[in-house]
Amino acid sequence: MNTDAAEVVVVGGGLEGCATAWALTQRGVGDVVLVERATVGSGGTGKSSGVVRCHYGVSSLAAMATRSLETFEHAHDVLGADVGFHRTGYVVGVGPENVGALHASMADQRAVGVQTEDIDHTEVRKLWPVADLEPFGAFAWEERGGYGDAYQTAQAFAVAARRAGARLRQGTTVRAIRTDGGRVTGVELADGTAIATGHVVLAAGPWSVPLLAAHGVDLPITVHREQIVLVDPGQDLGPVPVFSDLVSLQYLRGEGAGQLLVGNSDLAVLEAADPDRYSNQASPDAVDVAVEKVGTRLPGLAEPAIASTYAGCYDVTPDFNPVISLVDGLDGLVVAAGFSGHGYKISPAVGRLAADLVVGGESSAPDVPAADFRLSRFAEGALLTSPHPYVGAGQMR
Ligand SMILES: Cc1cc2nc3c(=O)[nH]c(=O)nc-3n(C[C@H](O)[C@H](O)[C@H](O)COP(=O)(O)OP(=O)(O)OC[C@H]3O[C@@H](n4cnc5c(N)ncnc54)[C@H](O)[C@@H]3O)c2cc1C
Repeated sequence: MNTDAAEVVVVGGGLEGCATAWALTQRGVGDVVLVERATVGSGGTGKSSGVVRCHYGVSSLAAMATRSLETFEHAHDVLGADVGFHRTGYVVGVGPENVGALHASMADQRAVGVQTEDIDHTEVRKLWPVADLEPFGAFAWEERGGYGDAYQTAQAFAVAARRAGARLRQGTTVRAIRTDGGRVTGVELADGTAIATGHVVLAAGPWSVPLLAAHGVDLPITVHREQIVLVDPGQDLGPVPVFSDLVSLQYLRGEGAGQLLVGNSDLAVLEAADPDRYSNQASPDAVDVAVEKVGTRLPGLAEPAIASTYAGCYDVTPDFNPVISLVDGLDGLVVAAGFSGHGYKISPAVGRLAADLVVGGESSAPDVPAADFRLSRFAEGALLTSPHPYVGAGQMR
C-alpha cells in the first residue's frame, strides 16, 4: 500500500484548514499536507457573506477578529494575494433594551485593541439615508470593518501555504484518523492509501463529527441551513457600510454591481440540514421574511426587487462558538471546527491558534486563551458566552 508521510496533515481545505496550513508554515513547519475531499473553498466557505467586524462580547473573539483584520487589510503583503476585502465600515445598531450591553461590550472590545466608536442617528443616517433608524437606541461604528471574499481568502491562504512548502491534495478524502496507543499515527484515505503523521489538524467543518466519533469523541456540532437573499435596490445606494441590524435581526451589505446582500441574524429557530444535500434556494417563507424586514428597515427604497437567493450551512455548537482544541486521549490531534456562522472574520487568528496548539500545545496570544475554545467546555457545562448578551439576539457572541 502507498504511504505518504508528513509532519502535519490538515484535514479540510476550507478557510480554517487553509489558514492553519499557512500559519504552520509561518511557524517553521514546512512539511504540511492539506487534504481536501473536493476543492479548496467548496464547503461552507464558498457560501460565506464574509462580513468583517470585531464586535464580539467574548473578548477572545474580539481579539481574534482585530488581529485577523490586519491580515485582510494587508493581504498583499502578508499572503501575496488579494482577498477581496472591501473596507466599507461596519455599523451595528441595537434597540433601547440593549444599549447598556452594547456599551459594556464596546468597552471590553477596546480593552483588546478594537477600534470601535459611538455613532449617533444623524451620522448613521448619512451612511444609510434610506434606512428607518427610529427604533434603534444606540449604534457602534467600526471604520475598519467591511467584508471580504471568503472563497478568495481560502485560495490565498492555500496558495501562500503551498508557496511556503505545504502540499495540497485536492479530490482526496480522509476516511479515518489512525491512532496507536492514544497517539495519532496517520490518516487513512478513501482510495485505500494513507499518510503517516504524528499531527492531524481536523478542520473538516461539520464533516469532522464522524471522524472523531470513530474514536468515541463527541464533537457537538449540528448543521443548519442559512438563506441569503440578494436584493436589487432599484437605485444606486453608493458604498454603504455593512449594517448589522439587531432590531430586525438581519445584516445588510453591498454586493457586486449595486445589489444588497441580506442575511439572517435571527438564530433562535434553526433549520436542521444535511450539508451534502440541502436546497440552495431560499424558501418562499424566508423570502417573505426578508422582504418584510428589508421593507421595514429601508422604507426609502422606491422599487426594491429580489435578484436571487442561495443557501449555505452553518456548523453550530451549543454555544455558537468554535472548537479549536487538543483532544484528551488523542495525542497529536487538534480540532478546528464548529464555527457556527462566524468563522470568516477570525480565520487568520484561528490558523495561528491551531498552529500554536500543534507546535507548543498552547496559545501564543495572551488575549486569546486556548481554554476558551476547548472541546471539554461542553461536557463541563462551561459554555463560552458573552458577558453582555443582547436581549433577543443572544447568539451575537
Ligand atoms: C451562508 C453563510 C454566510 C456566512 N457569513 C459569514 C460572515 O459574514 N462572516 C463570517 O465571519 N463568517 C461567515 N460565515 C461562516 C464562515 O464562512 C465559516 O465559519 C467558515 O467558512 C468555515 O470554514 P471551515 O474551514 O471550518 O469549513 P468548510 O468551509 O466547510 O471546510 C471544510 C472542508 O472540509 C472538506 N472535507 C470534509 N470532509 C472531508 C474529508 N473526510 N476529507 C477531506 N476533506 C474533507 C470539505 O470538502 C470542506 O471543503 C458564513 C457561512 C455561511 C454558510
